[in-house]
Amino acid sequence: MPDKIFPVKNRRKNKYWTDTTREPEINFLENIPKNILREGKIGLPQLSESQVVRHFTNLARKNYGVDDGIYPLGSCTMKYNPKVNEDIAKNSNFSDIHPCQKTEDVQGTLKVMYELGEMLKEIIGISAITLHPSAGAHGEFCGLLIARKYFEIRNENRKIIIIPDSAHGTNFASAAMAGFNVIEVKSNKEGTIDLKILEELLKQHSSNIALVMITNPNTLGIFEKDILKISSLMHENGSLMYYDGANLNAVIGMVRPGDMGFDIVHLNLHKTFSTPHGGGGPGAGPILVNESLKDFLPVPVVIKKGNKYLLDYDIKNTIGKIKSFYGNFSVCLKAYCYILSAGNSLKEISNDACLNANYLKVKLSKFFDVPYSKNTMHEFVMSAKKYKESGGTALNIAKRLIDYKIHPPTIYFPHIVEEALMVEPTETESLESLENLIGTFEKIVSEIKNNPEVVINSPVSTETKRVDELRALKEPVFKE
Ligand SMILES: *Cc1c(COP(=O)(O)O)cnc(C)c1O
Repeated sequence: MPDKIFPVKNRRKNKYWTDTTREPEINFLENIPKNILREGKIGLPQLSESQVVRHFTNLARKNYGVDDGIYPLGSCTMKYNPKVNEDIAKNSNFSDIHPCQKTEDVQGTLKVMYELGEMLKEIIGISAITLHPSAGAHGEFCGLLIARKYFEIRNENRKIIIIPDSAHGTNFASAAMAGFNVIEVKSNKEGTIDLKILEELLKQHSSNIALVMITNPNTLGIFEKDILKISSLMHENGSLMYYDGANLNAVIGMVRPGDMGFDIVHLNLHKTFSTPHGGGGPGAGPILVNESLKDFLPVPVVIKKGNKYLLDYDIKNTIGKIKSFYGNFSVCLKAYCYILSAGNSLKEISNDACLNANYLKVKLSKFFDVPYSKNTMHEFVMSAKKYKESGGTALNIAKRLIDYKIHPPTIYFPHIVEEALMVEPTETESLESLENLIGTFEKIVSEIKNNPEVVINSPVSTETKRVDELRALKEPVFKE
């Protein structure tokens, strides 16, 4: 059969030609260093189909995801992901194409990217976009590289980024990676940015301040009500406004970051626009930038000329490439389908997300303190501090929830709440499922009072019991 693989006339030219009837032109074995050549047999497992199917089915049963039950992991927006989006992403018209194909052969794919960009611009209220970054943190890094280059070209030496103490750790990390210094600002009693401190910082460091990174609503679920004041203070100072869009689910269709005065925005498509994202991805973290930053976007940018979709590599001050090809296309495709299917009801997403969170907050306030409880939106943070002494730490409560087949909320974040349990139910949970979560918390609180050992020693129902999380973090073993 090998004779049929390549037409005869191409044989000589193709160096990968393997014809068992002749000597190969290149002896691959000779070109591979001896020390990495395998000596024995490959050792593939010899298993029947049923053994393989059972193995993976059993593994899948040990897992937990949004398809199994509520997943109130605060800040992560673990909403139900409609299966129709997966079906479309799997469609071979999309999945079988190659990023090296000519643009005229992949017009449909470029159209999806272009139109998704247009829809996101409308939703965010900002006029330029790239879909390249792979996730929120990657978007932050990309956005900050743009800010850095923007100031460099203007010959401004702005090296300081202001970040509130409630912010996600990736904000601090991205700022450091992009070569900035961070000033952390303490939140006020309401859990929002303290205007007085901000004004003080602007006075003190004025022309050294590059930007402020704000999550709005913030990780306490609270909307920064002074946002317009903050953006005018920053802009008067020649600084930029960066929007961490991880909590967009709280405001989508209601208010636009562009209208709040933000210049750079990252989105977490996998959170707001529904892509399964437990366990690390894949995600997509497009960034949007205003007119004055648009010449700094990574290349290429998808553009439309007449009826044709093209890739534009000619971006004047581009920061270059931050990802191979064009971003995680299948995640973008799912977001595109999700937005189209939501249609005019995008607003209902944020309305229902806020309603569900507030319902939980009111009901759970009976058992837990909620230190910043005014004006919370799509999530809230409660404290297990009062149960700490009797063994009801946030960690123990989280572990006990697993025994009741519920994924725990985010714990110990944001740092400004002691024994924090950060709850985000999302809009896709029913009243029954919220009631079940409330009832389970109530049960655990009564266990803490009457039988704390069972909470302290949880989980008991899982394959792996208590793991040493600190050691896992400090001495990771990636394979056995
Ligand atoms: C999730 C999250 C991020 C980071 O986004 P990834 O997509 O996980 O990289 C940044 N900020 C906030 C507030 C988040 O919740």
